Amino acid sequence: MSATGSSPSSSSSSTKRLEGKVALVTGGATGIGEAIVRLFLEHGAKVCIADIQDEAGQQLRDALGGDEQGVMFVHCDVTAEEDVSRGVDAAAARFGALDVMVNNAGITGAKVTDIRNVDFAEVRRVYDINVHGVFLGMKHAARVMIPRKRGSIVSLASVASAIGGMGPHAYTASKHAVVGLTKSVATELGRHGVRVNCVSPYAVPTALSMPHLPQDERAGDALKDFLAFVGGEANLKGVDLMPRDVAQAVLYLASDEARYVSALNLMVDGGFTAVNNSLKPFDD
Ligand code: NAD
Repeated sequence: MSATGSSPSSSSSSTKRLEGKVALVTGGATGIGEAIVRLFLEHGAKVCIADIQDEAGQQLRDALGGDEQGVMFVHCDVTAEEDVSRGVDAAAARFGALDVMVNNAGITGAKVTDIRNVDFAEVRRVYDINVHGVFLGMKHAARVMIPRKRGSIVSLASVASAIGGMGPHAYTASKHAVVGLTKSVATELGRHGVRVNCVSPYAVPTALSMPHLPQDERAGDALKDFLAFVGGEANLKGVDLMPRDVAQAVLYLASDEARYVSALNLMVDGGFTAVNNSLKPFDD
């Protein structure tokens, strides 16, 4: 298994669920975004990786076969409207259309638990990427999807979209806002045949989440320690949530299998947000 939790096997043509579709993935150079890019390609999509990490994005593009395999990279800072607009236009120009927009880029911001010490500039920064970036992705995807009367927009929220205490204040608020944007934009775009959904994972080992592992949970193997800790807190036991599991949920919403699904916040949390984690009635 690779760092993204992907298996080496690829999908056969009969099981390709995005054949003929074009997708853009923001924050697609690493982490969950990379897993989405890889899975989408396996399922026959042409994919545009849009990220601020030029080197990582270009390396991934080349590793996946570049132009010949229907994968491109654009530099795109989701906080800059001209970048998002240009990224959408570049993907549509290269591949002929845009069917799927994945607003995946996101940050947690600094972990400060005492609100009295929170730097307001940091709150704005988290909102700029996690909320305004998602808004811009929706806006420019809508611009090219409305005339075609179809399309699927999928944004990455989090378990922090449903409950408090899973991240810094601004992160939690920003992920609640992603759900709000999803519902609001789904309401408008339904009449144009465009679906708008979001996906809310529990903790997944990536560069975003792993630095937040408490110091006293670190025994030397970063991935093992992370999985042991989040697995211990999880509701669903015996499964490690990996980037590819999140990508599978995004794939479903992007594909025609979800053709009547819109305004959904799909929890990929093994039931974590549905249970009361303070009361453990089945504990001895
Ligand atoms: P990551 O840090 O591994 O990857 C994020 C990617 O976004 C990076 O490639 C980064 O370069 C890119 N990015 C950051 N700022 C950007 C910007 N301004 N413009 C364009 N790209 C930018 O993070 P991840 O864990 O893969 O997270 C992806 C999404 O999933 C985020 O929205 C995150 O909030 C959400 N999420 C993650 C977890 C988790 O545990 N990892 C859980 C729930 C939700």
